[in-house]
Amino acid sequence: MTERLFVEEFRSKLVAWLDEHDLTPPPGDHSLDAHQVQHSRVLRALYDAGWMRWGWPESAGGLGGPMILRAIVGEEVVGRRLDEPGPYSMLEVLTPTIIDYARPELAAEMVPKLLSGKETWCQGFSEPGSGSDLASLTTRATQRAANTWVVTGQKVWTSFAQYASRCVLLTRTGAPGTPNHESITAFFVDLDTPGITVSPLRTMHGVDEFCEVYFDDVEVPADRMLGNVGDGWQLAMDLLPYERSTCFWQRIAYLYSRLDALIDEVKAELGPAADADLGAAYLALHTLRCRSRATQLRLADGQKLGPDTSIDKVLLAGAEQQLYDIVRDLLPGAVELDDTPWRTEFLYSRAASIYGGTAEVQRNIISRRLLDLGKE
Ligand SMILES: Cc1cc2nc3c(=O)[nH]c(=O)nc-3n(C[C@H](O)[C@H](O)[C@H](O)COP(=O)(O)OP(=O)(O)OC[C@H]3O[C@@H](n4cnc5c(N)ncnc54)[C@H](O)[C@@H]3O)c2cc1C
Repeated sequence: MTERLFVEEFRSKLVAWLDEHDLTPPPGDHSLDAHQVQHSRVLRALYDAGWMRWGWPESAGGLGGPMILRAIVGEEVVGRRLDEPGPYSMLEVLTPTIIDYARPELAAEMVPKLLSGKETWCQGFSEPGSGSDLASLTTRATQRAANTWVVTGQKVWTSFAQYASRCVLLTRTGAPGTPNHESITAFFVDLDTPGITVSPLRTMHGVDEFCEVYFDDVEVPADRMLGNVGDGWQLAMDLLPYERSTCFWQRIAYLYSRLDALIDEVKAELGPAADADLGAAYLALHTLRCRSRATQLRLADGQKLGPDTSIDKVLLAGAEQQLYDIVRDLLPGAVELDDTPWRTEFLYSRAASIYGGTAEVQRNIISRRLLDLGKE
């Protein structure tokens, strides 16, 4: 059987399984707590049935097969609104990093916990003074004994930390004067270690999605280092392309579902002006999906993702914000006055040009590293 036929058959079997096994979220509760419960429920069922394991290496508890299989699972699950795109995307951001950088035994032990929904993990990169300029981070790790490091500092905007069991954490380990990019070391830290405090932050859309995380003299075993001392910057450079591209595949499916819902809602009053707006939103989404598909295929082909994923990130932010701008224009009051999902989603869409690296920083990367336009 050709790979194409295998992939098509995989999708139709998955669709049939999802039709048979009702994983629809219980109605009514749109809180983050409810989303988290649903996320674990859906992953557990998909993992037990094998679906969540396809496309991941057998060495980490997967069933192997082309990586495109896991993109199909994400697309079908999130496109049907069985899970939210935010929590689901963490799988695509953090799992490849743990597989590439953790000791093989650690990856084999931990990855199944994430894919099966038993655990949630978070990403501790940003700090109050270090977001776009990530290399300036100051959370410090020092070696206390042969097998122990001690971490002190603060992270911020750490999504889902209040639910997370573990954190992929960037720390500074280099002596003063060491170049920034050689001074950063990553650890995989258990969040129930004494000395860690997690404080959720309220966002403008009313959801405590992210947190401040404080580390006060936190002991981390040396075998939880990801890679070697000084590999943290390279780890970040390898992780961010996933956060700027492949983790959006299922988000795109979700955005299509919201465009369909908008069309249903305004159908009765559609005039030529609305047609043009909806058409523009569709084109932006379609452009994004084409770009994202090409990225998925490059990854599946064994190519390394890099600065080119900044294009995916710019297209995602643009398409998402355009869609919700049109919601605001076509459903007067739904965003400004009503307590509807549209309002929450409109507000959250503003974050699309911030998380994973701001739109300005992505455009800098595109102009400097892809177009070679120089520093100014
Ligand atoms: C919803 C959401 C979830 C997040 N989740 C996480 C998470 O789980 N883990 C994590 O570590 N972080 C997370 N973040 C943080 C995110 O990575 C940072 O917000 C982002 O990198 C920007 O950093 P900053 O907020 O410090 O802004 P700053 O870096 O202070 O930037 C402020 C402004 O200055 C502009 N700017 C900065 N430098 C330049 C430059 N060189 N050229 C042009 N303009 C520039 C930026 O574009 C921006 O408009 C999340 C953020 C959001 C919004």
